[in-house]
Amino acid sequence: MKIVNNMKNYVLFIMIIFLAVSNCRNNPDNTPINNNAASIPQHPINPYYSRTDTMTLNLPDSIWKIVLPDSVYRIARNKETEAAFSGKYWNSTGKGTYYCAACGNALFRSDAWFASTCGWPGFFETMRKNSVKYKSDYSYGMIRTEVLCGRCGAHLGHVFDDGPKPTGQRYCMNSIVLDFVKDK
Ligand code: FE
Repeated sequence: MKIVNNMKNYVLFIMIIFLAVSNCRNNPDNTPINNNAASIPQHPINPYYSRTDTMTLNLPDSIWKIVLPDSVYRIARNKETEAAFSGKYWNSTGKGTYYCAACGNALFRSDAWFASTCGWPGFFETMRKNSVKYKSDYSYGMIRTEVLCGRCGAHLGHVFDDGPKPTGQRYCMNSIVLDFVKDK
């Protein structure tokens, strides 16, 4: 039985490596985000997490289920919403960068964060134009614009047009799918 389990883990490992290579395709904006990339620690469990790799990820749900913690998976892939005032960034004031917790894509700078009274972290602009992508969302009888990670397609939250100046946008995000790294 132990041998069978070891074989299963081995096959799973090979499958993840194979998919990591075969499911990536070139991103037109393939410039490194940070020249000091070598000094940034990488995610210990998720082999797809990288704060420097901008290659688009098209992974099947079965892989995300394996590499993401359940709490992240439920929001990033199942599009659930964390409870208001329950996340760690809704009242954050640190200076740094918010990355996608699923893939490490740079999403927001703390300069764009604002104190949102709704219970979720708010931002008035993304870090780069292609940091995120958008999709119309007609669920729950509402018309909203869903915000997805531009690299891995993880559900991040929604964007509304009742935000502060200078953009008037309010990116209402789930803390659990954000990974904040303080500036050094
Ligand atoms: Fe992502």
